[in-house]
Amino acid sequence: MKAKGFTTAILHSDREGGVEHGSLHKPIHTSITFGHASAADIAAVFQGRQAGYTYARQINPTVVALEKKLSLMEDGLATCCFATGMAAISATLLSLLKAGDHLVSSSFLFGNTNSLFNTLQNFGIEVSFVDATDAANVAAALRPNTRAVFVETIANPCTQIADLAAIGELCAAHGVLYVVDNTMTGPWSFRPKTVNAGLVINSLSKFIGGHGNALGGAVTETGVFDWNSFPNIIESYKTGNAQNWGLQQIKKKGLRDTGASLSPESAHHLAVGAETLSLRQERSSSNAQTLAEWFSARPEIARVFFPGLPTHPQHALGKQLFRHSGSLMSIELKPEVDCFKFLDALALCVLTTNLGDNRTLVIPVAHTIYFEMGAARRAEMGISDGTVRMSIGIEDIEDLLADFEQALAAAR
Ligand SMILES: *Cc1c(COP(=O)(O)O)cnc(C)c1O
Repeated sequence: MKAKGFTTAILHSDREGGVEHGSLHKPIHTSITFGHASAADIAAVFQGRQAGYTYARQINPTVVALEKKLSLMEDGLATCCFATGMAAISATLLSLLKAGDHLVSSSFLFGNTNSLFNTLQNFGIEVSFVDATDAANVAAALRPNTRAVFVETIANPCTQIADLAAIGELCAAHGVLYVVDNTMTGPWSFRPKTVNAGLVINSLSKFIGGHGNALGGAVTETGVFDWNSFPNIIESYKTGNAQNWGLQQIKKKGLRDTGASLSPESAHHLAVGAETLSLRQERSSSNAQTLAEWFSARPEIARVFFPGLPTHPQHALGKQLFRHSGSLMSIELKPEVDCFKFLDALALCVLTTNLGDNRTLVIPVAHTIYFEMGAARRAEMGISDGTVRMSIGIEDIEDLLADFEQALAAAR
C-alpha cells in the first residue's frame, strides 16, 4: 500500500498501533515505573535485549506514541522527546560532543540556543558562528575537528533562510553531522532529511503543539548519517544498525543525564495539536502572506521581513525549499511612528513572546528578548527599537487587518 499522506498518518497512528477499548488516542500513562512478569524479563528489558518499559524518566508509553508520530512527520527512523526544545538541543550536543571538538553554527540563532553554545565553549567545545545564508561561509569555517554543523531553517526575528541544501551537500562530502532545527518551518512545510540532515530538532511548544498549552522538544534521527564515521559514539552503544547509534546515545546519555523528560500529560496535548498542524499552517501562512503585503504598502512601515515577499533576499530559495513562507514576520516602524503607542493600541493581538500559537502574538524585540545582548549586537542583527516581531495566528484575516489598521492610525 502507498504510504499515507502527512495528516492521515498522524491522525491514525495511535489507533493503528492498537489501544484498548478501540480508543482513538493513546491514553495518558501516569505510572513512573513498570512491573515485569519474571526476573528473566526485567533483565532482558534492562539489557536492551527485549522491548519494554523501565522507568518513566527514560521511557513512557504516551511519549513513545508521540515519538512515533514525529518520526512519521519527519520521515525519520526514530525520535526522542524532551521536556522542551532547549532540552532537546542541550541533550543532543552534550551527549555527542566533547572537549576539543569544533561546532559550526549559524549566527542567526534562537537566543537561548546562542546562549547554550556560549556555555559549550566554557567546556572546551569551540564554536564558530557564520552567516549560514551562504554555504561558502560554512565551508570556510570547517576544520579537521569539526564534528557538527547546526542551523535553523528560518531565523528569528529577521527571517534569514539558511542555504540548507548546499550546506547539506557540504556536510555529506566532509562526513560531518548536519543538525537542523526545524522549529520555524515544521515538518509539514519542510523535511530537513531532504537536504541530508542527520538529526532534526523540533520545539513542540511552537507550531506542532500549536495551542500554547504544553512545552516539549524532540530530536529525530533521519537515517542519512553514517555514525561509523563519528568518533564520539561510546563502544557499548554501537549495537544494531549504525544508522541508529546517534539517537541511541542521545537517549541513553542525553535524556538520562539531563533528566529533561517530557511529561505524559504534555505528550498528549502535543499529540492532539499535531493532528491539525497542516490545517493550522495553511491558514496562518495565508494570513501572514496577506498581512506582509498589506504592511509593505503602509506609509508607517520602513521594512517588512517575510520570506514570502519578492523583496526578501532569500525569497527564491524559500520558494524552492518550503511548502509555504511561514507565519513569522517582523516589521520595522518608521522612527516617527511610536512603537509602544502602536502596541498599546492593538486590541486583538497578544503582547507576548512565543510563536507558532493559534493566536497572533506580537513583541517589540529590542526592548524584550534581545534587550540583554545590547545595542551593538542588535544593530549587527538588523534589529531597531521599532522592530516588532509577529507570529501570525489563525484568526479571521478581516479581524487582523482591522486591528493593525486602527493601531497604526493610533500611533501616527
Ligand atoms: C522556541 C525555540 C526553541 C526552544 O524551544 P522551547 O520548547 O521553548 O525550549 C528552539 N529553537 C527555535 C528555533 C525556537 O523558536
